[in-house]
Amino acid sequence: MGKVIGIDLGTTYSCVAVVEDGQPKVIPNKGGYKTTPSVVAFEEGGRRLVGQLAKRQMVTNPKNTIYATKRLIGRKFDSPEVKKALASYPYEIFEGPHSDVRVRAGGQEFSLPEIGAMVLQEMRRVAEEYLGEPVKEAVVTVPAYFNDGQRQGTKDAGRIAGLDVLRIINEPTAAALAYGYGKKLDETVAIYDLGGGTFDISVLEISEGVFEVISTAGDTYLGGDDFDDRIIDYLAESFQQNEGVNLRRDKMALQRLKDAAEKAKIELSSALQTEINLPFIAMSDKGPLHLNLSLTRQKLEELTADLVERTLSICTKTLEAAGLTKEDIDEVILVGGQTRMPRVQEVVQKFFNRPPRKGVHPDEVVAVGAAIQGHALSAAAGAGGEERAEDLLLLDVTPMGLGIATFGGFFTRVIERNTTIPTHASHIFTTAADNQASVKIHVLQGESDRAADNELLGEFMLTGIRPAKRGEPEVEVTFDIDSDGIVSVSAKDLDTGQEQSITVTASSGLTDQEVQWMVDASKNYEVELKSRSEVEKACNRLEGLLLQVERELHARDKGLEKSLVQEAQSLLKKARQAIEFGDLQEIKKYTHQVPDLIKRIGAGG
Ligand code: AMP
Repeated sequence: MGKVIGIDLGTTYSCVAVVEDGQPKVIPNKGGYKTTPSVVAFEEGGRRLVGQLAKRQMVTNPKNTIYATKRLIGRKFDSPEVKKALASYPYEIFEGPHSDVRVRAGGQEFSLPEIGAMVLQEMRRVAEEYLGEPVKEAVVTVPAYFNDGQRQGTKDAGRIAGLDVLRIINEPTAAALAYGYGKKLDETVAIYDLGGGTFDISVLEISEGVFEVISTAGDTYLGGDDFDDRIIDYLAESFQQNEGVNLRRDKMALQRLKDAAEKAKIELSSALQTEINLPFIAMSDKGPLHLNLSLTRQKLEELTADLVERTLSICTKTLEAAGLTKEDIDEVILVGGQTRMPRVQEVVQKFFNRPPRKGVHPDEVVAVGAAIQGHALSAAAGAGGEERAEDLLLLDVTPMGLGIATFGGFFTRVIERNTTIPTHASHIFTTAADNQASVKIHVLQGESDRAADNELLGEFMLTGIRPAKRGEPEVEVTFDIDSDGIVSVSAKDLDTGQEQSITVTASSGLTDQEVQWMVDASKNYEVELKSRSEVEKACNRLEGLLLQVERELHARDKGLEKSLVQEAQSLLKKARQAIEFGDLQEIKKYTHQVPDLIKRIGAGG
């Protein structure tokens, strides 16, 4: 067995780690960064960019830059979350053949597991470059509150990426593993995980290497992106009031707003005030318009107060479900980039009445935990297939109830939420009408007593039931949830012995055959990756210079000759196009030209 890597497949950033000589290590990418943007872009002609390079050209190529797909993976097209994304994401989202979500970019169509696979492949490449050997196996993390469809989608992404995903583990649980690894602890810990797209809270008991999740809850549509959206709304509204122009209509302007909003938010974690300057954001009859606004930390806190509040109400529910009070919690651990916001830290401290644990890196701790679990699994496999290795045992739970729809539109739970996994349970159901020959089983996951309010994982027919009075035949339905949190269901007519089972494949939006086809297609991509780093470096350099041009133009806006401003604008446009197309020759040409232009602008023409 080779090295097993741990991958935190994040909404906004992803991170990869490995255990070497018993020590977990986060692996930096070629740019030296320990996290890589979960962004995939397609250039004209279909060439693919992943990570930093894809993120960088988001502004100039918004329609073909796919991001935040973790918010949509495994969801049905008609879900409210997808409707929200349709209204705000600049790239094209459409309905797939299984009511799933697909995206279109660079003239091609993709399922979301395929996009996830591209990010996973990139993380694998980062690991392989560091380790100097091929990597085949990984542990991948998901938010604790991901349902079956979302987990299936993530697992499919792993398969398409050519990785053997040994285990899917929950992000807060991974964080707890990273925190408790190698320490002799006997504690109850709360993991507060606010990432780019999702919020999770888990309560665990750690004792002598056993990590047992007691309760978990979350919101898979609450994260740093929502904080950014609040700033975007504020900027767009202010601009409309001041200039009468709706920036939301212009996809490129919207992408620049998004970029600036996230930057401002991050700056406000260390500064009390920040300036947002977006030169040439729009055109009017009078000429180009610039957005200049200052944003204070206080204003940001006002704009996002309800989001922070929502996380606390979920914390309250989780503690209740665990039968614990705040006083029972020995440590609070913050995970996810958004917990760097001082206001978040303050409210969490106030809520739990203790300072959150410092010293765990919120962006890296999840990948580290995944690597530790991967290492434990590989050590266990070496030691005869036992799951217990290095005195580490992980007991996780299912985040939502699982059951079936029953007569009258009710939801009958077969497995309660917070049940330790793997688990299985059976329930006997009967017919609702005389001589009913078949039963349709709707498998649902969720917390509502009304069937319609829960997520439909799949449905199947049990046929050939013996003719009998209603209530007489007995159908036994058995649910299995494996260690990845993935569900399979079977049903048996106890009378005839007839059995039927479903693996809930349709929920991820892909059938087995489709996944296999995508696995084959993604192999070709390995060839494509090679010549990229030279272009990548050249793009970085030119983009840096172009930003300098914009800054200079902005600083000297009024005093410059019109012809020089026009020349600069035209060059900015053409150079960005060269970056967008990854045209190395053109990029070099502009890189050569720009310094002279900057000098001339600096000299006032
Ligand atoms: P994660 O999914 O854990 O990588 O978290 C990413 C989210 O954290 C994104 O929304 C980032 O904008 C946000 N983030 C990263 N650093 C900071 C910071 N210093 N202050 C506030 N938010 C941050």
